[in-house]
Amino acid sequence: ARSAGGNQYCFDTPAMNAAVVQRQALEQALRGALERGEFVLHYQPRVSLQDGAIVGLEVLLRWQHPELGLVPPMEFIPLAEETGLIVPVGEWVIGAACRQIRRWRDCGLAVPPVAINLSARQFRSGGLDRTIADALAAEGLDGAQLELEITESTAMTDVGEAVAAMQKLKALGISLALDDFGTGYSSLAYLRRFPIDYLKIDRAFVRDVVTEPGDAAICIATIRLAHSLRLKVIAEGVENEAQMEYLRRQGCDEIQGYHFSPPLEGEALAAMLGEGTRM
Ligand code: C2E
Ligand code: CA
Ligand code: CA
Ligand code: CA
Repeated sequence: ARSAGGNQYCFDTPAMNAAVVQRQALEQALRGALERGEFVLHYQPRVSLQDGAIVGLEVLLRWQHPELGLVPPMEFIPLAEETGLIVPVGEWVIGAACRQIRRWRDCGLAVPPVAINLSARQFRSGGLDRTIADALAAEGLDGAQLELEITESTAMTDVGEAVAAMQKLKALGISLALDDFGTGYSSLAYLRRFPIDYLKIDRAFVRDVVTEPGDAAICIATIRLAHSLRLKVIAEGVENEAQMEYLRRQGCDEIQGYHFSPPLEGEALAAMLGEGTRM
């Protein structure tokens, strides 16, 4: 509850104070986490519905906290985004992913394209293309080894600027995916202007795709739309055979989700690549 003192609003309940203190503590801890090397990357494979081969890996950030254990991104990325910390954290992700690709290659593995999630702030920060080009060059990689995932809502904020930023990334040879498709407020006219390669159907529509006609309609419409724009479609959050078969019948190109594999640590993922594991 708030109490008004003149024009001033102040948050004065113990719960509010606790929340503020907790936030500050989290921000402080996040700043230290980079220096202490507490961030780790997991990798989730995605497979082709045509031949079952692994055709990509998505990089997913975790915070290995000394007391809290493995902290999922949704518990710290929103605050990192708000405070701007996401920019250095995001740079670390780019560098660490490139180093991992290089190590896998040095082991003789064929590494499929690796997809990195970009936050809104990171996507808008000038110099992202430079950062990525430098990270690739440092490990002797070219742009074809990377994909970038931008959420639909990030892309739809200031479309002109977003298109320009995407073009710079495409010029490096990097593929682009529009993430969480269907959750934003896409306009088809804008969609046409984006130099993207993939639409990723949000898992909210995949979960009940077999039983909910509304969700099925959205998945089917997205697949048709993507194909008519010559884009490929990835369905995320595929957890079982029924969802996979339904999406396959509708012409979906690729799937990602627990049904094939959860996100894995680098070593476990390397074992999968080495064994040529397929769906
Ligand atoms: P996202 O990009 O939509 O990533 C997919 C999320 O779905 C991941 O959650 C993944 O672990 C989870 N997932 C994969 N398969 C399944 C499944 O079959 N069922 C269910 N229920 N979930 C599945 P995660 O790793 O917790 O990441 C959450 C979000 O955090 C991501 O959503 C992405 O928006 C953000 N994120 C993760 N890593 C980064 C990063 O390095 N940078 C930025 N900016 N955001 C990141
Ligand atoms: Ca993603
Ligand atoms: Ca997604
Ligand atoms: Ca999502």
